[in-house]
Amino acid sequence: MANLAWLNGKICEIDDAKVSVQDRGFLFGDGVYDVIKIYNGNPFRLRSHLERLQRSCNAISIELPDSIGEVELVIRKLIKESACADGFIYMQVTRGCAPRDHYFPTGIEPTFLIYILDLGFPSLKTNFKLIECITLPDERWMNCYIKSTNLLPNVLALQKAKEAGAGEAILCRPDGTVTEGTRANIFAVIDGTVRTHPESRLILTGVTRNVVLDILQKASIPVSEEAFSIDDLRKASEVWTTSTGHEISPVKKIDQHDIDTAVPGPVCSLLIEEFWKRVEAECG
Ligand code: PLP
Repeated sequence: MANLAWLNGKICEIDDAKVSVQDRGFLFGDGVYDVIKIYNGNPFRLRSHLERLQRSCNAISIELPDSIGEVELVIRKLIKESACADGFIYMQVTRGCAPRDHYFPTGIEPTFLIYILDLGFPSLKTNFKLIECITLPDERWMNCYIKSTNLLPNVLALQKAKEAGAGEAILCRPDGTVTEGTRANIFAVIDGTVRTHPESRLILTGVTRNVVLDILQKASIPVSEEAFSIDDLRKASEVWTTSTGHEISPVKKIDQHDIDTAVPGPVCSLLIEEFWKRVEAECG
């Protein structure tokens, strides 16, 4: 099973995919990315991820070098050629290569990289992990809806979480508003209603978040995309994170505070069940 890459139109082994040190992704973090999960040889919510990549490119004035339809064909070819059953597709678009200068260079082509990371084992639906979280100040920029490769605040916060024995950091604005995790959206059941931060510049609109919102709506479970505070979070009867990488992860502890009820709670359990039904329906 080869981990194949596609770099500016050419397929090669991942270790043979080389980018110049003058690439603005390397020098400035001047780029965007997206990640898609492969289940059973099929990408889940491919179009949603490609449309988000397109939106991220638009937001920083990079022209996606290929149409979404063309990228979709490349991805399907890569999955087939690498015989990947379960894994990830990583896509990154940078402004391209030029002598270092902050201004946008003219006359250069973006660098477009796509590669497959084979997990080598199936993502089992029984495999969800209960996680502990810590809360930390949200020190990121004001355009978190763009999936930018500038992930330093996320990297530093997640490392702090790891050092504290936690699996995720829940990020909070100076006014106490909970935004999201370092690599996941956050949901909480507060006074019987499922709450998550609304779509805004302060969060990434997660593809998994949207799947979960759809399940909640179809199940007629009360849901409100209304920001909540860290104090509200401490009152929550259920908390979970959503992400492409870890699907739905029930949270059992936040800082020193244990979630009172059994984890996963009833809403989260239903979501996990319904989520995997959707994966099965789409990916087999
Ligand atoms: N929020 C942040 C900051 C993320 O990095 C991610 C995923 O990488 C998410 C939310 C979840 O998004 P998705 O469900 O599309 O993976």
